[in-house]
Amino acid sequence: MISTNKLLQDFSHLFYPHTCAGCGSDLLEETQTICLHCYSHLPETGFFAHPGNPIEKIFYGRLHVAEAAAGYYFTKNSVLQRLIHQLKYNGNQEVGRQLGRWLGTQILKSSRFTQIHGLIPLPLFPEKEKKRGYNQATVLCEGVSEIINVPVLKDLVIRKRYTDTQTKKGRNDRWKNVDGSFEISDHAQLQHKHLMLVDDVITTGATLEACGYAITEIENTKLSIATLAWASDD
Ligand SMILES: [Zn+2]
Repeated sequence: MISTNKLLQDFSHLFYPHTCAGCGSDLLEETQTICLHCYSHLPETGFFAHPGNPIEKIFYGRLHVAEAAAGYYFTKNSVLQRLIHQLKYNGNQEVGRQLGRWLGTQILKSSRFTQIHGLIPLPLFPEKEKKRGYNQATVLCEGVSEIINVPVLKDLVIRKRYTDTQTKKGRNDRWKNVDGSFEISDHAQLQHKHLMLVDDVITTGATLEACGYAITEIENTKLSIATLAWASDD
């Protein structure tokens, strides 16, 4: 006998086809958003297991980072690019949560990145987040959190546009080339913690550096960085 639940699922498929977010194939289990074929084409970096990996090197001499890594190599016209596009521009948050779970699995398998107290999604400009309806880094964090069992700390780091007074002088000068500046809204909730800053794709690392710097200014914090993908700019 077919359950009511199954009937409802089949019925909803008539209106909402259940297809892979990477290739459009409809050969998916009920709970899948990405098919096995696409999953097997995600190029894992293996960086989480390796100290001194290219992501850590990005921050050498720029920012004190305990550990840093990216989960996958980002290339143009790849499955991964399509999946990230679905997450950022097609409102497909489930894709982001699944990618986050796979990123979390890489973190969990590594003997590094241990004793992290909180995940911090790299904040978007508020107006951009409002337009998209969510921050894709927060969605990734939710998936990571499910696997490594570390809470997502939202809205404690704020991203702002520069004003003239900010850019004129002081240490903000250092971030003139960064798109915005970062402020901590609640120091007490972040101090004495090992925090992992999370974003979707790292290229030059300039924005992560600026945000990470604001976090390391908080009393007795340790900073690590994890991104879903690495787009090397050479
Ligand atoms: Zn697929």
